[in-house]
Amino acid sequence: MLDFNHRPKIHEQISELIDAALLAERQQQTPRNYLGASRLGVACERALQYEYLHIAPDPGRDFSGRVLRVFEVGHALEDLAIRWLRRAGFELYTQKATGGQFGFSVAGGRIQGHVDGVINGAPASLGMNFPALWECKTMNDKSWRDTVKQGVAKSKPVYAAQMAIYQAYMESAIPGISRNPALFTAINKDSQEIWFELVPFDGGLAQRMSDRAVNVIAATEAGEQLPRHTTTPTHFECKWCAWQDRCWGVAG
Ligand code: SF4
Repeated sequence: MLDFNHRPKIHEQISELIDAALLAERQQQTPRNYLGASRLGVACERALQYEYLHIAPDPGRDFSGRVLRVFEVGHALEDLAIRWLRRAGFELYTQKATGGQFGFSVAGGRIQGHVDGVINGAPASLGMNFPALWECKTMNDKSWRDTVKQGVAKSKPVYAAQMAIYQAYMESAIPGISRNPALFTAINKDSQEIWFELVPFDGGLAQRMSDRAVNVIAATEAGEQLPRHTTTPTHFECKWCAWQDRCWGVAG
């Protein structure tokens, strides 16, 4: 029998209100008009083109309110990591002396990135060299354990690519940052365990990512669609891709 008296439960109603507010807030934001350097290591160059062109995600594939909350929790945890490192004696800067985040803009503003922080001092017992790039990520337990087991370069190549290209592009503003290993930080969102890894600069990786960015931008501006990274729409990267239908169903 149909229950005509059914009303959403209080947790459903409040969650819906919050998510609607977050989605409305996101719609007010100006979309970025550059290729984000943090994304250059993703598997598929065609997906990078969609991003660069601000192509709307397939219906039902845009960020949900829950995903926006996941992003905000990540930012809040990053603020905690900053506090913890500073309390432990790290000289960690997250803002320039003139205000605003550290970052870079190259290729006439077409490629940009914002760095989590720059370390300029730490307890001597660690033997670190400065300045050093600081990059912080938050992960669920499974992803965090894989990072700990394999190291960031193998477990999270997109993050490794991000650090390499950030070190390369920040060198002119912060001389020496590409000579010294970056400090990668990963917070386990389930257990609050923390992982730190010193990641030496990988110049070859930075160059490959820079070449890739140039290729994506040049092809996009020439109206040329880059190939898919796989031959099957059931590839796991495609299952998560916001443009799966467009890519395989419409664009051919
Ligand atoms: S659906 Fe797959 S091949 Fe197409 S853009 Fe996305 S990741 Fe690339």
